[in-house]
Amino acid sequence: MSADINPQPGIMDINLYQGGSAAVEGLSDVVKLSSNENPAGPSDAARKAFTHAAHQLHRYPSTDQAPLRAAIGEVHGLDPERIICGAGSDEIITFLCQAFAGVGDEVLFTEHGFSMYRISALAAGATPVEAKERERVTDVDALLAACTDKTRLVFVANPNNPTGTMIGGNEMARLADGLPPKALLVLDGAYAEYVEGFDGGAGLIDGRDNVVMTRTFSKIYGLGGLRIGWGYGPKSVIDVLNRVRGPFNLSEAQMSTAIAAVQDQDYITKCRTDNTRMRAWLAEALAELGVPSDTSTANFILARFASEAEAVACDAYLKTQGLIVRLVAGYGLPNCLRITVGDEASCRRVAHAVAGFKEAQ
Ligand SMILES: *Cc1c(COP(=O)(O)O)cnc(C)c1O
Repeated sequence: MSADINPQPGIMDINLYQGGSAAVEGLSDVVKLSSNENPAGPSDAARKAFTHAAHQLHRYPSTDQAPLRAAIGEVHGLDPERIICGAGSDEIITFLCQAFAGVGDEVLFTEHGFSMYRISALAAGATPVEAKERERVTDVDALLAACTDKTRLVFVANPNNPTGTMIGGNEMARLADGLPPKALLVLDGAYAEYVEGFDGGAGLIDGRDNVVMTRTFSKIYGLGGLRIGWGYGPKSVIDVLNRVRGPFNLSEAQMSTAIAAVQDQDYITKCRTDNTRMRAWLAEALAELGVPSDTSTANFILARFASEAEAVACDAYLKTQGLIVRLVAGYGLPNCLRITVGDEASCRRVAHAVAGFKEAQ
């Protein structure tokens, strides 16, 4: 690149997103528990819809996403006119930063928050700002104290990743109502479906003009590989986001698969039930081995070790046993491992391997 050819401010400050690794050299029977994927994958109805979409690959997709928005609206009781769909919720996060934050503006998120908030803020030229959490829980007072007249976006994942903790609706309402007038609150509901009866914060949006919600098909729907997410918010905000959205940002294959997936709520209920059962089992098994975790509300556990050295050693040992989990030092949690709740056999393998690791210590 010539010395005169330069990217926009902030872009060279971006550290590339680190995905969960998927392989261990020399081992074939590995279990990937590093990306919070649904171990059972998508429902049969979703798989069938995806296969069917192969017949129409030469056709451009619809630009208005109307059938998918209608299906999501119907299932969640939301106005389809206030829904926007994207290539994963990552793309909705990108749209929000691109549309609402630029040079000189601040994008606020929590200490251990999802790394895409920082990346998207920097890509838009804005300044990322972190607020402390309280013992790995979102701290509304710290977020409010970190707000300035430059704050444009406030991202809070609820349940949070990688902590697995969540805060209640009253606390979230207090945050929404205490923000400065130019700040938009983004409720990231990537794990909302794992919490029975939780609307992801949709109820906070109605009656307020400063709250939006993002959701994804990547987690409980088991479609992380297909890249589908959505956002819901005030009509005025969705209208802004639609102006920066590419007209063909989702393929027909993505949209028709997502429609089938969202319409199969029996499958989602079963996945939630299985996850809740195995999560409790895994947390208990690890706690008995001297590895505690906060009560998780998502599809992973944040296992706490005595030190960074022990967490790193356990991660390495688990790898030798064909178990890939996630080191989260990059999220300010160097003594922890984030472990996705897999199927029953995987959870048993994790507990067995951690026991082996502890014995060898
Ligand atoms: C996994 C995850 C997402 C989802 O990303 P997609 O782009 O929809 O796959 C969003 N936010 C958080 C906090 C996540 O953990």
